Amino acid sequence: MMSAAAPAQDLRSTLDEAFAAIEPKVIEWRRDIHQNPELSNREFRTAAKVAEHLRSLGLDKVETGIAHTGVVGTLVGDKPGPVIALRADMDGLPVLERTGVPFASQARGEFNGQDVPVMHACGHDTHVSMLMGAAEVLANNRGMLAGTVKFIFQPAEEGPPAGENGGAVMMIQEGVLDGPDAPEAILGLHAWPIDSGTLMYRSGSFMAAADGLQINVRGRQTHGSSPWLGVDPIYVAAQIATAIQGIPSRHLDITKGPAVITIGSIHGGIRGNIIPEEVEMLGTIRTFDTGIREELHARLRKTVQSIADANGATATVTIEGYAPVTGNHPELLRKMMPTFKWAAGDRNVIEGRLITGAEDYSFYQERIPGLFLLLGVSDPNIPLSDRPSNHSPLFNAQEDALIVGVRTLVGFALDYSQVSGR
Ligand SMILES: [Zn+2]
Ligand SMILES: [Zn+2]
Repeated sequence: MMSAAAPAQDLRSTLDEAFAAIEPKVIEWRRDIHQNPELSNREFRTAAKVAEHLRSLGLDKVETGIAHTGVVGTLVGDKPGPVIALRADMDGLPVLERTGVPFASQARGEFNGQDVPVMHACGHDTHVSMLMGAAEVLANNRGMLAGTVKFIFQPAEEGPPAGENGGAVMMIQEGVLDGPDAPEAILGLHAWPIDSGTLMYRSGSFMAAADGLQINVRGRQTHGSSPWLGVDPIYVAAQIATAIQGIPSRHLDITKGPAVITIGSIHGGIRGNIIPEEVEMLGTIRTFDTGIREELHARLRKTVQSIADANGATATVTIEGYAPVTGNHPELLRKMMPTFKWAAGDRNVIEGRLITGAEDYSFYQERIPGLFLLLGVSDPNIPLSDRPSNHSPLFNAQEDALIVGVRTLVGFALDYSQVSGR
C-alpha cells in the first residue's frame, strides 16, 4: 500500500497532457453554460448537455431525469476498488447579470410565478464544466482508475421553487447513494471569491446548518387608541424579536460553535389607528453543531411561547430545515491533503474559517464521509473587500481556476482507493 504522503505521483505526470487538452474545452463549456443559465428544477438544457457529453465518453452508465433534471454518470475503472462520488450542482439564480463579460447571460425564466432574469451568480456553471472535464480525463484514463466513480450532476441546490421538491434530498431519495454501486465517499467543490486557483478547507464543520423560521403571533384586534381592549401582536412581536437574540448570547454554549438568528421580515397591520390581529415574522437560523442546533430550536419555541403567554397572545413557531452542517471528514481530509496540494500547489491549499452560508451538499455527508472545498475564482489583484460575493450580479469566475478544479476532482478519484487502503 502506498503511503498517504505520495499517492500515485508517478502516474500523475502522465496526466499533464490530458489536463492541457481538457482546459480549453472546460473553458468553452463553462462560457456556454454561463450564457444559458437555468433556474432550479428547470436545468433542462444543462442536463441535456451533460448527458450528451457523458454518453460520448462511453461511460458504463448514464442516468437522466433523477430528481427532475439530475444526471448521474458511472465510470468503472480497469482495476478493482471502492466507489466514490463527485458532485456538481447545476442551477442558476434569479439575478440580473452585470459582469459585462462577452458571454454574459440575457436569459429569463419564471420563478414562483414571476418573470425574472437568470444568472449563474453562484458559479454553478464552473462546477458543471469542471466535473464534465474530470469525467473526460478519467474516462480516457480508465487504466489508472482503481474502483468506480459516480458523477453526480444535481439540480436545485439553491432550493426548489415553492411547492416542489428537489435538490440533494431528492437525489438521495431517488437512490444516488444506494444500490450495487453505492459510493462510500464524496467530494464537492464550490466557486468562492478567494484568490483564483486556491483551495480552502476546514476540518470538521465548515458551512452552517440553515433552518427557515416562521413565527405567527396572534393577538386581538382593537382600536389603536385603546390597547387595553385588545391584545397587541406588534408589541409582542417586538419583544420576541429582541428576546430571541439573547438565546445565542446568554443561553447557548458558544464554545461549541456560534449561532445566528435573523428576523428578516415582519408583517402586520394596515394603518396606524388599528391594532391588528396578527403579525408574521420570517427569519433564518444558522448553527454549526447538532446539539446547539437542537437546543436553539427548543429555547426559541419556549421563549416565543412564554412571551406570548405573558401578554395574553398566542404564537406558533415553524422551523423548516434547509440543510445540516457541511464540512470535511477530518480523517479523510488529512489523508487527501497531499492530493489537494498536488492539484492546486502546496501554498494554495489554505485553511478557512467558519462560513455562515449553507449548502445542501450536507445531506450527502449525513450518509457517507465527504469533503467539501471552496475553489478560489476571483482575480487576486482585486482587494478581498471589493470582490463580488456569490449571488452578486457581478460575480464572475476567473478561467484559470477551472483546471485546478478539474485536477482536484481527478486527483481525488485516482487517489482515494490508495488512501482508503483498498
Ligand atoms: Zn448559491
Ligand atoms: Zn452555490
